[in-house]
Amino acid sequence: MNQFKIFESALLRHGITTRHGGVSNPPYDTMNTSFYGQDDKVHVMKNIKLSMDALKMTAKTIVATAQVHSTNILSIKDDFDFQVLRPFDTNDTALEGYKLYIADKTDGLITNREDVVLMTFYADCVPIVLYDPVTRTAATLHSGWRGTKDRFGQIGIETMCSQFGVRAEDIRAGIGQSAGKCCYEVDFPVIAAFEKNYTKTLLSGAVFPKDYGKYHLDLKWLNSQLLQMNGVLPQHIEVNQDCTICGTERYHSHRRANGGARGTMSAFIQCGL
Ligand SMILES: [Zn+2]
Repeated sequence: MNQFKIFESALLRHGITTRHGGVSNPPYDTMNTSFYGQDDKVHVMKNIKLSMDALKMTAKTIVATAQVHSTNILSIKDDFDFQVLRPFDTNDTALEGYKLYIADKTDGLITNREDVVLMTFYADCVPIVLYDPVTRTAATLHSGWRGTKDRFGQIGIETMCSQFGVRAEDIRAGIGQSAGKCCYEVDFPVIAAFEKNYTKTLLSGAVFPKDYGKYHLDLKWLNSQLLQMNGVLPQHIEVNQDCTICGTERYHSHRRANGGARGTMSAFIQCGL
């Protein structure tokens, strides 16, 4: 489990899983938290329970995203109606007695409630966890190249500010393990898409042309810059530099699996201690 030091003194329970500590068999070994794929659901529910227990999460309601590389964010406030979400059956699993809800076509979750665990999924895309200690509001975002291109981090900050009364300068941010600039290779159309939403000057810090016509992209750095451009203080941002693609022993990777079956990692957050 990876945790950010920047949240150590915050009233926030949080963690991002790795491959370690679960019960799944290859190729999902061992900690796979995705119940959308072909892995044994009993194993996946056990893995989620193990992760939540390790983080001392006591809430019995979990809201998980069904991600589509969008910039759609679900805000979960006190008056939130869970009936608008899709329930997932947890009977006869380690999560029996829990309520697990799926937020369809959603890539980000925000809450200030202490009785809900938020869950987002990753296997190379960039996890962004945001927390405001003043209003005690937390967000988790799934920002791959499309999300980053569409400035998802900015949308997350704007939503926290407009809907939860957050000030950007109060936000603490963690950018998690994801595809690193060492390995994350893209073609020119991807770079061209970024050039529509970012200046070339800024992109010069994130795009590294290779002599064989491809580009390496530093999504973590670009997301860190995006957060700062939207008012998050640089000293309030922590970046995990681990690369999921070459971090074979510790991380699942979509790119490394090359279209094959693989495990998925999750960010878990719950407000309060
Ligand atoms: Zn790498």
